[in-house]
Amino acid sequence: MSARLHDLTEEQSQIQSLAREFAQREIAPFIEKWDEEAYFEPSLVKKMGELGFLGMLLPDEYEGLGVDTSTYLLALEEIAVVDASTAVMMSVHNSLPTQMILRFGSTDQRERFLRPMARGELLGAFALSEPEAGSDAASLTTQAVRDGDDWILSGTKSWVTSGSHAGVIIAMARTDTGQERKGARGIGAFIVTPDLAGFHVGKKEDKLGLRSSPTVQLNFDGMRVPGANLLGEPHLGFVYAMKSLDSGRLGIAAQAIGIARAALEAATAYAAERRQFEQPIRDFQAIQFKLADMATRVTASRALLHLAAQAKDRGVNVKMGCSMAKLLASETAMFCTNQAVQIFGGYGYVKDYPVERFFRDAKVTEIYEGTSEIQRIVIARELYAHD
Ligand SMILES: Cc1cc2nc3c(=O)[nH]c(=O)nc-3n(C[C@H](O)[C@H](O)[C@H](O)COP(=O)(O)OP(=O)(O)OC[C@H]3O[C@@H](n4cnc5c(N)ncnc54)[C@H](O)[C@@H]3O)c2cc1C
Repeated sequence: MSARLHDLTEEQSQIQSLAREFAQREIAPFIEKWDEEAYFEPSLVKKMGELGFLGMLLPDEYEGLGVDTSTYLLALEEIAVVDASTAVMMSVHNSLPTQMILRFGSTDQRERFLRPMARGELLGAFALSEPEAGSDAASLTTQAVRDGDDWILSGTKSWVTSGSHAGVIIAMARTDTGQERKGARGIGAFIVTPDLAGFHVGKKEDKLGLRSSPTVQLNFDGMRVPGANLLGEPHLGFVYAMKSLDSGRLGIAAQAIGIARAALEAATAYAAERRQFEQPIRDFQAIQFKLADMATRVTASRALLHLAAQAKDRGVNVKMGCSMAKLLASETAMFCTNQAVQIFGGYGYVKDYPVERFFRDAKVTEIYEGTSEIQRIVIARELYAHD
């Protein structure tokens, strides 16, 4: 449908097929109902763990698949073509909590958490945002205070993807004090588990799209976190979060490409079937041009994404590449889903066809893990970084 400009390895083709078959079998038959009811199916986590989809970037010693970033993103795109909600759960889990524990955690933390996370026994979540701290995430106010070996956390985290079903949440909280604020360098990252006293799941958001991905507030009410759950250094949690968000953005880009591709595939098929003025609407050049623009943008977005992924795996600084990939892919998702609704006409505006869901799901890719405005700021800043 959209052009794939590089050959896949045998392993990549196999994992891509596995992801496609899984999504078709376990998600596609139920997706309209789950979307309508804003229902998250918990058994998906265990099933995805059994197939390796929740430990894709973890090495073999932690029961992960240990594949390269491109292979992981190919699988994520296949899941997103069918269901963007399941894709965001998969992206957050693989890109943020598991990677943060792997990269910045102690041996004990890696031993305790990574295998159950890879198996799908513990779903991961990432809690950075707060009601008053969104794009300016370093202004967060959740406070962590030392008490003997433990930390006491108080505050509210918002917009936590999978937060109501997670077994492991990496939560950022201030470790600096009121008198001595250190901004981004006064924040710690804590491994929070829902059994901790003072942990509460708060409001569940009623969203426009991604309706079967639960997004919740988490309230920490004097929550006692063992010292052994502090990730790395107490003042570097924000730095760890930002480093991890670079690759998190690649996951969101793959999700966005999946949504865009789903819209392109649906619109191409519909344009061949739908007849007006005694001919299929695909014979009209106005429709052909829309499809051509959609296919071009999907292909360009995917090419940029995999260039960034390959550079990341070579150890190159890919901050700018990750932001560019996310920016282009999320705008492609909005463009393609908008065009798909247009090609479907009135039928695109109702729930008899899936393109209205694609349109609703696409929007958030321009918002989370850094809005498009923030991606442009990162890209512009990197342009001058070496002056
Ligand atoms: C469905 C969903 C899931 C999410 N999941 C998670 C999650 O798992 N974990 C988590 O921590 N967070 C999560 N988020 C939060 C998300 O990352 C934030 O919504 C996002 O960072 C934007 O913050 P905000 O909503 O507070 O918007 P604001 O920061 O208030 O931005 C409002 C507008 O102002 C613009 N703006 C802000 N600052 C600037 C600037 N300097 N220059 C130009 N424009 C600017 C923004 O681009 C935006 O258009 C999720 C959000 C949603 C909607």
